[in-house]
Amino acid sequence: DYVVSLAQVTKEYAGGVKALAGVDLAIGRGELLGIVGPSGSGKSTLLHVMGTLDRPTSGAVTLASHDVNALSDRRLSALRARHIGFVFQAFHLVPSATALANVAEGLRYSGLPRRERQRRAITALDRVGLGDRMHHRPNELSGGQKQRVAIARAVAGEPDVLLADEPTGALDSASGAAVLDLLRELHADGATIAVITHDLELAASLPRQIRIKDGRIAADLRQGDA
Ligand code: ADP
Ligand code: ADP
Repeated sequence: DYVVSLAQVTKEYAGGVKALAGVDLAIGRGELLGIVGPSGSGKSTLLHVMGTLDRPTSGAVTLASHDVNALSDRRLSALRARHIGFVFQAFHLVPSATALANVAEGLRYSGLPRRERQRRAITALDRVGLGDRMHHRPNELSGGQKQRVAIARAVAGEPDVLLADEPTGALDSASGAAVLDLLRELHADGATIAVITHDLELAASLPRQIRIKDGRIAADLRQGDA
């Protein structure tokens, strides 16, 4: 039962850069996997293609049993909103909005009534330990707290998979570790998570790690593999 899978996926950017060169990867429900590799190896491209933000140049992407290539941009946006939560290095919060409003905004296209969106946003903020910061704006929060708001926004809609692109990249090591602990907790509660990281030691501590090199999967290791 895969949440998202890629078969023989390539991605070529304008100018001829081959960012992905034949990737096969399937993520099962409930997995927590780290993606590591040198700068420029294709990690972000991989995450964007998995997240259906980018379409592959060739190959197949399947999200929640839907063939992504067969969907119009509009249907793909709807599918993405329903099934995927994103977290980025730079938080991407609305500066003028409170934590609560930022998280509720993530549910805007959920089809849920406003009151239910508020309720879910509160639950998500409680879940990330920010129940007492809901009415703070981003500039009143630390980096680690901002990232936890972003994670609350990403999980509020209960996506099938959370995709995180260097979520600790802008944080000091203590806040970064706290964000990682939070991802582990969400995983323990059943979330499916793929996280790009520069931290090899961290990746090695996760249940599964994918090593990318030159747009290919150089290794796909599970905890306990030699
Ligand atoms: P990583 O996340 O591992 O640093 P990326 O996926 O960002 O790698 O990039 C992979 C390759 O694709 C690099 O050579 C990068 O310069 C190139 N690339 C990434 N995004 C674009 C883009 N929008 N246009 C052209 N080339 C790109
Ligand atoms: P989701 O599968 O994304 O949770 P739905 O079940 O509402 O959402 O499906 C959205 C649309 O995709 C519906 O028109 C449905 O018939 C179609 N669909 C769902 N699963 C499949 C599948 N495995 N193959 C083809 N079409 C599907």
